[in-house]
Amino acid sequence: MARYTEAQCRLCRRETMKLYLKGDRCYSDKCAIERRNYPPGQHGQGRGKLSDYGVQLREKQKIKRIYGLVEKQFESYFEEADRRKGVTGTNFLILLERRLDNTAYRLGFANSRCQARQLVRHGHFLVNGRKVDIPSFLLRPGDRITVAEGSRNLQIINESMAALPRRGVAAWLDIDASKFEGTFRAYPVREEISLPVQEQLVVEFYSK
Ligand code: SF4
Repeated sequence: MARYTEAQCRLCRRETMKLYLKGDRCYSDKCAIERRNYPPGQHGQGRGKLSDYGVQLREKQKIKRIYGLVEKQFESYFEEADRRKGVTGTNFLILLERRLDNTAYRLGFANSRCQARQLVRHGHFLVNGRKVDIPSFLLRPGDRITVAEGSRNLQIINESMAALPRRGVAAWLDIDASKFEGTFRAYPVREEISLPVQEQLVVEFYSK
């Protein structure tokens, strides 16, 4: 699967907001957005007003980058969301939130979604007691996500979990840090997904 390897802070600067792609660094004064909150490149500070299309495109790129997806994956989530009953934009965010890598990050087992994806790929998590190494695995209410026993001493997992009190856990998840286990309690509702995104703009982008 193709992956975006350009410096992640450039992605935040392009969207002129923190996308929290680099764990602890994002909360420090080393964050590029704290220092240079304008798009990278020679003309970064001189860009004019965006067209409606430009606004929709930027919103799509922002959400895609927050979840660390490539275009094709992102589009297929949208198509799936569009096929389902209900509000397409909300369906879309719920699908993204159900991913195992995202959930491992939200449970505090990793510092960033990117780190969580790597940990999943390397087989550090179990879902309902069975090893799952597919970052896009979609969780259902009641699923239990556990750090594999042999992985509980990993420094990156322990350091991430130490930051849990600061980061908190999403409303639709439960965590039992002493057991290295979290539960995907229910599908989130839109109000619980506290991302500063306007998914309706993505719907408009793909509806053209
Ligand atoms: Fe974005 Fe984090 Fe880099 Fe700041 S430190 S620009 S939030 S990836």
